[in-house]
Amino acid sequence: MTRKLYQEDVYKKECESTVVEVQGAGTADDPYVLVLGETVFFPTGGGQPCDLGTIDGIPLTGVFEKDGMICHQLLPQGNPDLIPAPNWKDGSRVACVLDWNRRFEHMQRHCGEHILSGIFFRECGGVNRGFHMGSGYMTIDIDVPGITREDALRIETMTNEVIWANVPVTTRHYAHRSEAEKLPLRKALAIDEDITIVSVGDVDNPADCVACCGTHPSTSGQVGLLKILKLESYKGMTRVYFKAGKDALEDYQNKHRILAELNLKYSSDDNDLSEKMKVQEEKNKEIRQELYLMKNTLIGKAASEILNKYEAAEEQTDNTSVTTPGLLIREYPYFRANDLLSITKILTEKLTGSKPLIVLVSTRETLVILASSGKHDCGKIVKDNAHVWRGKGGGNAAGARVMFPSRDDLDCFIIFIKQAYHTTR
Ligand SMILES: [Zn+2]
Repeated sequence: MTRKLYQEDVYKKECESTVVEVQGAGTADDPYVLVLGETVFFPTGGGQPCDLGTIDGIPLTGVFEKDGMICHQLLPQGNPDLIPAPNWKDGSRVACVLDWNRRFEHMQRHCGEHILSGIFFRECGGVNRGFHMGSGYMTIDIDVPGITREDALRIETMTNEVIWANVPVTTRHYAHRSEAEKLPLRKALAIDEDITIVSVGDVDNPADCVACCGTHPSTSGQVGLLKILKLESYKGMTRVYFKAGKDALEDYQNKHRILAELNLKYSSDDNDLSEKMKVQEEKNKEIRQELYLMKNTLIGKAASEILNKYEAAEEQTDNTSVTTPGLLIREYPYFRANDLLSITKILTEKLTGSKPLIVLVSTRETLVILASSGKHDCGKIVKDNAHVWRGKGGGNAAGARVMFPSRDDLDCFIIFIKQAYHTTR
């Protein structure tokens, strides 16, 4: 069995250790795994991620427990030719240095989870059935459905009160189940022997008391802060998202920054930000409505201009030599693709006699819309020709769109269209 120094002194940040076994070849596919006689590194387990740090200056990539032995996975990084290969063998002495900042944050977060779970148990009888500690938030699954926001806020305050009280966090070992069961445990024991019980606060009336092999600070005050983020229904339970310790402080700092930016933007303070955003939203809604009406008017006008011209031309074709053109090109500086599509929709519905190839250009989007209700296949025109001028798009026989990377490319495409399709009916 590896001697777990983190259980004897959770604040021990480095140690010398004896190599029990060396596995692996130090490559990416087959990294070194050192089995050590004693270690300061906590292995992944119980929902808590493993410690990291260095052994003989080489960074750890993982720590895990196997049959009571702690295994340390290492991978020399950078140029392996410049890094001397470690000369590890069974019995070698190695220097272990813990990444203390990472460990302490884990201790803060993990202990915060203890207190929060303990208070949920005390206040609503809910047992924590699942725990997740990710790189961002943590979650616990409390086996009571429908915990309200108000309940959660009350429990969050109580949890922070335990943190402020700076009560001791103690770890006790029990050889047999019968002794451990005398304590006010939050959760039934899963093992019968060699049990570690963690208590937060007064042993007779603890904020939390549960079996746990993780790492914890010696007092609750070191957790610093705990904040519940949200509640979610989960398999008949309530999933509670929260943050604790430095992670919670960083979250607060980030949210404060976002809030300060919004207050600057809306000339507000924290209290009237929401109201000022609502007022701005209303104004935006009105402006969007006005814009919609004005655009529709412009679209109608653009379509009428073309229709009037065609109707006049068609009246003349009955008794004169004047013919309607087979190609119609218009360019608009302010319309977008969707606006041009609205124009082509009106045109293809109303141009009953003449069936020209309609080509509408959006200057602001460097884009061309083609439409035809007659003899042209717009999709094919785009597919066969637009790529010559780096145009990207497509469509079907009745309509197609193509976007160009530059105005010059678009102009070349239009010149081509004029040459190829400028026929008369
Ligand atoms: Zn624990």
